[in-house]
Amino acid sequence: MTLVRVPPRLEQDVDLSKTYDAVIVGSGAAGGMAAHVLTTRGLEVLMLEAGKKLPIEQELRSMQWPYDHPRRGDAPPGYHSLSFNEYTIRTPPYAKGSTFKHVMSYVGGWGGSDYVKNILVDEKDHPYTGTKYAWVRARALGGKTNIWGRLALRLSDYDFKAKTHDGYGDDWPISYADLQPYYDKVDLYLGISGVKENLPHLPDSLFQRPNKLTSGEVKLREGLKKMGRVLTPYRAGVTTDGLKHNRYRSKCYGRGACDRRPGGCDIHAAFDSPTGLIYPAMDTGHLTIRTNSIAHEVLVDRNTGKARGIGFIDSATHKSYEAKAKVVIVAASTLESARLLLLSRSPQHPNGIGNSSGHVGHNFCEHVMGPGVTGLVKDLVGKPPTLDDGRPGGFYIPRFRNLNDRQPGFVRGYGFEGGGGFSIFPGNAMGTPGFGAQFKKDVRDHAGAFIGMGGFGEVLARYENYVDLDPAAQDAWGIPTLRFHYQFGDNERKMCEDMVAAGREMFEAAGIEVVRTNDQVLTEGWSIHELGTARMGSDPKTSVLNQFQQSHDVKNLFVVDGSSHVSASCQNPTWTIMALAWRSCEYLADEFRKGTL
Ligand SMILES: Cc1cc2nc3c(=O)[nH]c(=O)nc-3n(C[C@H](O)[C@H](O)[C@H](O)COP(=O)(O)OP(=O)(O)OC[C@H]3O[C@@H](n4cnc5c(N)ncnc54)[C@H](O)[C@@H]3O)c2cc1C
Ligand code: SF4
Repeated sequence: MTLVRVPPRLEQDVDLSKTYDAVIVGSGAAGGMAAHVLTTRGLEVLMLEAGKKLPIEQELRSMQWPYDHPRRGDAPPGYHSLSFNEYTIRTPPYAKGSTFKHVMSYVGGWGGSDYVKNILVDEKDHPYTGTKYAWVRARALGGKTNIWGRLALRLSDYDFKAKTHDGYGDDWPISYADLQPYYDKVDLYLGISGVKENLPHLPDSLFQRPNKLTSGEVKLREGLKKMGRVLTPYRAGVTTDGLKHNRYRSKCYGRGACDRRPGGCDIHAAFDSPTGLIYPAMDTGHLTIRTNSIAHEVLVDRNTGKARGIGFIDSATHKSYEAKAKVVIVAASTLESARLLLLSRSPQHPNGIGNSSGHVGHNFCEHVMGPGVTGLVKDLVGKPPTLDDGRPGGFYIPRFRNLNDRQPGFVRGYGFEGGGGFSIFPGNAMGTPGFGAQFKKDVRDHAGAFIGMGGFGEVLARYENYVDLDPAAQDAWGIPTLRFHYQFGDNERKMCEDMVAAGREMFEAAGIEVVRTNDQVLTEGWSIHELGTARMGSDPKTSVLNQFQQSHDVKNLFVVDGSSHVSASCQNPTWTIMALAWRSCEYLADEFRKGTL
C-alpha cells in the first residue's frame, strides 16, 4: 500500500439548489464517522464544516525539533494562551479587554502554540459567558481529532447501567452488548494499540501491537498487582500495524512527537477524522464538503415540523446560505450541537428544535482532572538514556473504585493517565537546584527516573448543570453565544481528594518514592471531554434522543456526538462517540431506504 500524501480535492462545487439525502454539521470524530457510514451505504451526503481545510501536516510539523523553530515552538508575538489563573480568577468571556491580538485556550500553551494557532479558535471571535469554564474548541476540517490525545477506551455496563449499579442518575437506553459490535468495527477500521486485560469494567478492544512500557512503568505495574489493580499500556487510537484498507494513513513509527505536543501526527498513524474517515468517504463519490460554513439554524418545514436543511453563514464572506437535505445530522461537538438546537426556534419548536423535553443543554457532564502524583524510581537514577517518548502514550490505570466496593464519600470512579522515563525535555530540570557541570549531571542522571500520573474522574450528570443562549452576547458572525451554568459538586471534590491519597498509596506500594503530590483541581472544562447536553433515553419527557441518537420530536433529525451521552463514565469518550455514531447511522440508512424518516 502506497501512502497517499495528497488528499482528495476538497474545493468541490457545492450545488445548493440540490436536495441532498443527508447534511452533516461538523467534521470531527462524530461527523467523520457519519460521513463514512452513510456514504458507504450509498447516501448522497453534504458535510458543512465551520472551520477551514488546513494543510495539516504543515501545521503539525511533528518531527520539528525545538532548535529548528525560531521561537522554540512559540506562536508569533500577539498570540496569548489562557492560563489556569485567568480561567479561575476571571469569568468568561476571557478574551474581553485583552491587549493581545489573538487569544487561545490553554491548549495553545501546551508544548508550543505555533503548532495549533490555526487549529484552535481565537477566543476573541468566539466568546461565551457565564460560569468559569475552560472551553477548548478546534475549528478546522477534522475538529479536535487533529490534536486529540488518542487515549481510546471502551465503556462497560458499569457505565451504561450505572444507575442500576449505584442508584444515581439514569441508565443509558443501551447496554454494552448493543455497542460491542460497533466498537469492534471502529477498532478494525481505524486501528487501536493495547494489551488485553480481561477487565469487566474496561472491555478490551481488538488491539494492534501495543506500545512498550518503560522500566519505571513496569515497576509500577508489578507493584499494583499486589493491590489487585492494573496498569496497562496506553490504549492509543493509533495504527501500529498499519491499515491495508486506508491509503491516507501510515503505521506508527514510534517517533514520539505526539507525546511532545498536543497530539497530532503528520503521517496520520494517530487517528484523525480527515484521513481516517473523510477522505475515504470522498473516495466513494458520495460526499461533498463545504468548509468555512457556520451552521446557525436547523431549518424546518412549516407544514410537517420536520427538518429540511441547514441555514449557514460563510465564515469568510459573512453571506448567508441554505443547504437542503432529507435528513439532518448534527455533529458539531457536545456544546456546539446544543447551541445549534437551541438556536433553531420555530413556531413548531419554540424552545429550539428537538427540545420539547426542555433537556437540551442540561445534564451537561465531563471529567474532572488535576490531582496526581510524581515519583522517583531510585534504581533508574544514573542509567543511560533510552528513547522512551518514541510512542503515542504512556500508561493507563483503569478505575478501581466503586466496582465491588462502596466508597463512603463519592459514587462512580476515576482512572489515571501517566508516563515515566526519558522525554524530550527533562521535566525535573526546572526543579533541580544548582548550576554548571554538577547541575547538568544531576538533571541527566535523574531524567529517566521520574514517573507521574494524573486522575480523570466522572463528573455526575446533573440537570442543574447546563448551558443556554446568552440573549446579550454574540460571536463575530452575530450568532448568539452559549452561557454556562456549570460547576463541580461535592462528589467531584471528594473524588479528587481520593485521587491524591490513592496515587500516593500505589506509588508507595510499588517502592517508588513520592516526590510530589498535586491536589489542585483544574477548572471545569479542562478535560476537553464535554458530554450530555442532548441525552438519549426511552422517555421523551426526560430525554432528547432515542437509543439511535434520533430526536424524539423530529424523526429526520439525528445528533451523533457526545451530547447524546447519558453519563460521563471516567473513560475518555471519543471511541464511544464513534461506535455510537456508527450504530445510529446504520439505523438511519436502513430507515432512509424504507422511507420512514
Ligand atoms: C488536546 C486534546 C486532547 C484530547 N485527548 C483525548 C483523548 O486522549 N481521548 C479521547 O477520547 N478524547 C480526547 N479529546 C477529545 C476528542 O478530541 C473529542 O472527544 C472528539 O474530537 C469529539 O468529536 P466531535 O466530532 O464531537 O467534536 P470535534 O472533534 O470538536 O468536531 C466538531 C466539528 O464541528 C465543527 N463545528 C462546530 N460548530 C459548527 C457549526 N455551527 N457549523 C459547522 N461546523 C461546526 C467544528 O469546527 C469541528 O470541526 C481530546 C481533545 C483535545 C483538544
Ligand atoms: S509516535 Fe506514532 S502516532 Fe505518535 S507522532 Fe509518532 S508516528 Fe505518529
